[in-house]
Amino acid sequence: MSLKSFIDKIFGKGLFNTKWKCLVCEKEIFEGYFCDECKSKLLRIGNAYCDHCGRKLNVSAAFCTTCKGRLVNVDKARSLFEYRGAVSILIKKAKYSGAKYIYDAFTEDLKNLYLKTCFNADYITFVPSTEKAEKERGYNQSRILAENLSGAVNVPMFTGVKKVKDTPHQAGLNRKERAENLKTAFRIVNKKSLVGKSVLIVDDVTTTGATSEALAGKLKRAGASKVYLMTLCSVTPEEKF
Ligand SMILES: [Zn+2]
Ligand SMILES: [Zn+2]
Repeated sequence: MSLKSFIDKIFGKGLFNTKWKCLVCEKEIFEGYFCDECKSKLLRIGNAYCDHCGRKLNVSAAFCTTCKGRLVNVDKARSLFEYRGAVSILIKKAKYSGAKYIYDAFTEDLKNLYLKTCFNADYITFVPSTEKAEKERGYNQSRILAENLSGAVNVPMFTGVKKVKDTPHQAGLNRKERAENLKTAFRIVNKKSLVGKSVLIVDDVTTTGATSEALAGKLKRAGASKVYLMTLCSVTPEEKF
């Protein structure tokens, strides 16, 4: 390992020129995290979103077709970006190439969205990985995002959610099968502190919302009065109205 990569590893963003490069295209920049071109390719979700999963809607409605008419445990949800283009490049880099410093670039945005939405949560928590999965990756991306936000908005963390079962084949399952699979995936310890409290779940990507929905149900059964969700980005549902 070179001295530079050794120091980058310790300090995350890097002491030399790493922090002066755009996180997406690595072009030299003089401030911030992104060059202007890549910044314009981060597709921010505007005012049309589903209130239960936070995903973008192409029409103005309160809920997406997936959430509409269903009993849902997530009371309110927001997501910063669409999971496309520059954002999906970043997520993959951060998740699979160990570039966890990328998450720091979004703390300010997450904080602003939290304040704008008036979440006022008593606790911030995150979607956990199993111990084995976290060991393999070296970190849990949702925990990093949650801890960054917790520090920025001064809301304490709730770390009593454990993932006790790997759910590796979610992609091939339909919504009902996913929900079944996820039912027994989480365990909550220290339930007492949750009673009557509102909890915000933080995650990196919302795909269908099934994972956060299962976790929100678990938190509510443990006594939480409200459960909210904030994600860095989300897959836009195909809307048919
Ligand atoms: Zn760039
Ligand atoms: Zn929805």
